[in-house]
Amino acid sequence: MKLTFVIFCLTTIVTSRQIPAAQNDKDFAANQEIVKESAVPQDTYENSCFEASSDEEEDGIIIDGDILVSKEQAAIYYESGWDGLVNSEAWENTKRWGKKIPYKISYSDKEMKDNPTEINKIVANVESSMKAIEDKTGCIKFSKASCTDFIRLKFNIGKDRKCYTTLGRPVFGNRDISLGYNCAGTPCRAMTPAHEIMHTMGRHHEHNRPDRDTYVTIYSKNTCPTQMKIVKGAATKGIEYDYYSVMHYSPGQCATSTHLSFSIKKSNILIHNVGQRKLLTDKDIQHIKAIHCSSMMMRLVGGRDNSEGRLEVNNKEVWGTVCSDGFDTNDANVVCKYL
Ligand SMILES: [Zn+2]
Repeated sequence: MKLTFVIFCLTTIVTSRQIPAAQNDKDFAANQEIVKESAVPQDTYENSCFEASSDEEEDGIIIDGDILVSKEQAAIYYESGWDGLVNSEAWENTKRWGKKIPYKISYSDKEMKDNPTEINKIVANVESSMKAIEDKTGCIKFSKASCTDFIRLKFNIGKDRKCYTTLGRPVFGNRDISLGYNCAGTPCRAMTPAHEIMHTMGRHHEHNRPDRDTYVTIYSKNTCPTQMKIVKGAATKGIEYDYYSVMHYSPGQCATSTHLSFSIKKSNILIHNVGQRKLLTDKDIQHIKAIHCSSMMMRLVGGRDNSEGRLEVNNKEVWGTVCSDGFDTNDANVVCKYL
């Protein structure tokens, strides 16, 4: 019988890792303070640069709550599901966002003059979302777009805007993400931009996964059926269901005055943290890495916490245990740094 090699990562390494899915209000409060203290950056983009045309679809169709697609993309989505769309030419799959993503933050001079506090709150959330993705994946890098970046992720901020995104990496021009005061402008919504970024990088909502009925009970008569349906091809990537994902809706989404949209089937889940937008979870990061960072993912399972356990690797959406043969402390150190 082959034995598995159990890894114990050092605290100094663990602390640089993804904070576990927010377990209690204390975690949320601590993070909220971090968000409050973060510097509020200013958009210094030179407006004299060549302005790539906007791809925002004025006559597009919103699917599943906050995803704006063209009529062509919608037809593929309804016919072939999420994976069908992601892998179609309509998504420009061959030009999927890579590890370096130029971005631009856009708002009107008048709104900045009239409501600088509100604008800066959303700008801060955009910056903290990008930083969280950068720090926790270790492979994605956002950079302020220069005059020579003709392909950009563009955050359009405005008072009356709703929060939604268009999809994928364009051949040329902007990939637009819309952010409004009400849906992206508070510390508790700090990761709303990250939610939209992950859509445009290829991830669907957690509660739309094909296996979600194992984890939640949807009250279809008391919710928005189009937002809470199972989406064909919303790939799980072999990653466990994540109640605390920033890609999960809350039970209050589309709820009526007398009924929530869904209930939780598992025990020990803090329902008021389902639908949170304050922290990226370990599994959120695993999804990004699965698509953009590596052909292979690693995780530790069976330990007392996230810093120890049996090493598993993911290949083609299947997890398998690494055997101990030839695996030593040096190998473990490499794994800890990767994680
Ligand atoms: Zn969404």
